[in-house]
Amino acid sequence: MNYRHAFHAGNFADVVKHALFCRLIGYLQRKEKPFRVMDTHAGRGLYDLDADEARRTGEAVEGIDRLVASPAWDDPLLAEYRAAVEAARARFGTDTYPGSPLIARQLLRRQDRLSAYELHPVDAGALGELFAGDSHVKAIELDGWLALGAHVPPKEKRGIVLIDPPFERTDEIETIVEQLARAHARWPGGVYAVWYPIKRPAQHRRFHDLLRESGIPNIVAADFRREPHTAEERLVGTGLVVVNPPYTFAAEAEAIFALLQPVLTLSPGAECGIHVLAEE
Ligand code: SAM
Repeated sequence: MNYRHAFHAGNFADVVKHALFCRLIGYLQRKEKPFRVMDTHAGRGLYDLDADEARRTGEAVEGIDRLVASPAWDDPLLAEYRAAVEAARARFGTDTYPGSPLIARQLLRRQDRLSAYELHPVDAGALGELFAGDSHVKAIELDGWLALGAHVPPKEKRGIVLIDPPFERTDEIETIVEQLARAHARWPGGVYAVWYPIKRPAQHRRFHDLLRESGIPNIVAADFRREPHTAEERLVGTGLVVVNPPYTFAAEAEAIFALLQPVLTLSPGAECGIHVLAEE
């Protein structure tokens, strides 16, 4: 486990992922019934953008810093995301950035709960400290894939699972589709959001193809590129696959992309798109 999110927190991929994740949670808030957020690869939950790791890559400068300085930050479609970032900064400092579990926590109501899993002992320790004494949150040092196998469906039977692995393993795509299909078989009504990097076109196409062939119905993929594909392998874009998206999701994701494109794009010709991989 070499991946450490502290080097990448607040980058363009985090911004796109978290903006969409917040809309998905916002949709769950529309009904009074309680929901559960499960975050299988949670990270440490809070990042210091002034720390050595973040400064070394400078990725947040091209991500959250750009967004906060832009008029898009005032758009109602980003209201939940903005509220979560601002609440974290009010509490922990203006140089901080909240990870997905802290973002989710800010959006929970009295009746909702969060289960966050992280395998790296240092980050799991930080996550545990962040939520110590918080009765709404279980922060657990555990393999997220094991958690997905053992803790789905949650007792609320309503909610969202964020699956955000580090893509360090060569078989990560196959693992995701396999685990997703198993979780979906046990909890067909859950919303599942899976993050993936857009690097090589072939890898990205293969992921979509495996999902199409998985038999899981109702899948939408939202692909955001900030530059066109290049010969060298690098992160040109960020994607989120959503199983059981709310009926508003595709249109909202498209509108969010239209807001974020002028802010985050590095060069013209970068394609963004929402694709239906499986019908309901
Ligand atoms: N979801 C976080 C966010 O948006 O703020 C970022 C997560 S980061 C991309 C992936 C995290 O997964 C890393 O913190 C890594 O230590 C952790 N990780 C790697 N393998 C894992 C596993 N099998 N189970 C749980 N966590 C794992």
